[in-house]
Amino acid sequence: MSEEKSLNFLEEIIEADLASGKYASIVTRFPPEPNGYLHMGHATSICLNFGLTKKYPGYTNLRFDDTNPVTEETEYVDSIKADIQWLGFEWKNELYASDYFPQLYEYAVQLINKGLAYVDDSTAEEIAILKGTPTEPGKDSPYRNRSIAENLDLFTRMKNGEFPDGSRTLRAKIDMAHTNMLMRDPLIYRIKHAHHHRTGDTWCIYPMYDFAHGQSDSIEQITHSICTLEFVPHRELYDWLIEKLEIYPSHQYEFARRNLSYTVMSKRKLLQLVNDKHVSGWDDPRMPTISGMRRRGYTAASIRTFCDKIGIAKRENLTDISLLEFCLREDLNHSALRVMAVLDPVKLVITNFPEGTTEELTSENGPDESMGTRSLSFSRELWIEREDFMEVPAKKWFRLAPGSLVRLKSAYIVKCEGFDKDDSGQITEIRCTYIPESRSGNDTSGINVKGTIHWVSVPHAISAEIRLYDRLFKVEDPSSEEGDFKDYINPDSLQIIPNAMVEPSLANATADTRYQFIRKGYFCTDKDSTADHLVFNRTVTLKDAWAKETKKG
Ligand code: ATP
Ligand code: MG
Repeated sequence: MSEEKSLNFLEEIIEADLASGKYASIVTRFPPEPNGYLHMGHATSICLNFGLTKKYPGYTNLRFDDTNPVTEETEYVDSIKADIQWLGFEWKNELYASDYFPQLYEYAVQLINKGLAYVDDSTAEEIAILKGTPTEPGKDSPYRNRSIAENLDLFTRMKNGEFPDGSRTLRAKIDMAHTNMLMRDPLIYRIKHAHHHRTGDTWCIYPMYDFAHGQSDSIEQITHSICTLEFVPHRELYDWLIEKLEIYPSHQYEFARRNLSYTVMSKRKLLQLVNDKHVSGWDDPRMPTISGMRRRGYTAASIRTFCDKIGIAKRENLTDISLLEFCLREDLNHSALRVMAVLDPVKLVITNFPEGTTEELTSENGPDESMGTRSLSFSRELWIEREDFMEVPAKKWFRLAPGSLVRLKSAYIVKCEGFDKDDSGQITEIRCTYIPESRSGNDTSGINVKGTIHWVSVPHAISAEIRLYDRLFKVEDPSSEEGDFKDYINPDSLQIIPNAMVEPSLANATADTRYQFIRKGYFCTDKDSTADHLVFNRTVTLKDAWAKETKKG
């Protein structure tokens, strides 16, 4: 974007830190938990973290926050890497919190030795009861004053696998009356006899998020550790642990989560949509995942522009999905190849065009001359869109109707002379005559017509399956509605057209080419597409159909 943008609050902080000499360069990280595919919320975090180190000296690490053995999988790790690269960013180091398990264990031992951590034999329920409430202080656990020697012995035996899951925890010894509930002796290690996707069965104790995240930041000497607002209350603990362990002081900064209208953005909820088969998978083109949007035909540039436009905020809100679609249309309008496809074909016969002959016409590939031209075959029989004909025309109808004239895109003006219907009233054929002097680019007919329609030549057309998508949910914010978010799924979010007729150039459609099917929207091939069975996704309509509808009321 050309306009001068004011700095966001993180840029202000970073510029001040660089100016004061606090840092010569900065280090940020993107820390996904590999328990699902990345979604648009993650995209904003990626654009933010990687964007800052593009703008300022420094680099960004990709760190998998893989401290929970149960939900994490290698499939997710691979998809996350592919998505970040596709978005156009490069990380400096690929790191795993699980690689720090030995170091984190050492840190825990150090806390015990300083008298700042203890092994608690209380059950989860007992711990919860003693925790107090935001208005009442908690009470000390009966195990709080164990000796350092006993704590070291028990923690070692926890690590050695002597105790069952849930029987003991390691807790930081802070203050059971602290006004911040998270500072009331938080759990820092738990026993979990579970196989980890990277460390296998080496460990049966795992650090809690709060004891892994800040420490990992510190190990990597992250200068600006950026996370979402729900971690504001965690910052105090983040700072306490770094101070007590006397390790590199990373700093945590928070920004508001991004939410998009008419969808959900939580891996847990998206996983339910996948598991319950509401969608075909994480990369279903209706999903707000990066892989789903890529399959749908979104460009990385349009997503980056969108993230840039919405910037960062300190308060949560819902971003209108039409802004994202706007960024997409802007991008595709410049780059998409213009082609013709008829989604709901009806036959048009040009009675004065010689039978069995083909005329080669020329059509521009796009608004920009550099996109070139291609040859289009024109013949006596064409497919046109059923909705482009009206037996009894409405007011201001500029398309086909008995006796009316219309231009066939890149071809001739035709006049409707008659039509046939079947018993059910369905139009089966439209008959026209064409005006030979009206050829596009060389029109000497002197006739002006208001309407232009698209077409494909019957003997040259190829058939294709076309998938049209609508919003996945019927309401703006399914997560805030009463009941289950899945009750608000839009049952008509996918419409399949099995037999559309498309121009023959699309036989060679490639996966990374974007098309504008003239008058019908932007399309791309789907990964299900083969040479024998072409499949196209509609990425987005040409105009925001919903905006019109809201205005109509
Ligand atoms: P989810 O609830 O979908 O699982 P998460 O925050 O648990 O999201 P992580 O894998 O832990 O997902 O997140 C990696 C990074 O992406 C974190 O820094 C997190 O703050 C950020 N992030 C996740 N969701 C959003 C969002 N909706 N908007 C902005 N940033 C997000
Ligand atoms: Mg998470």
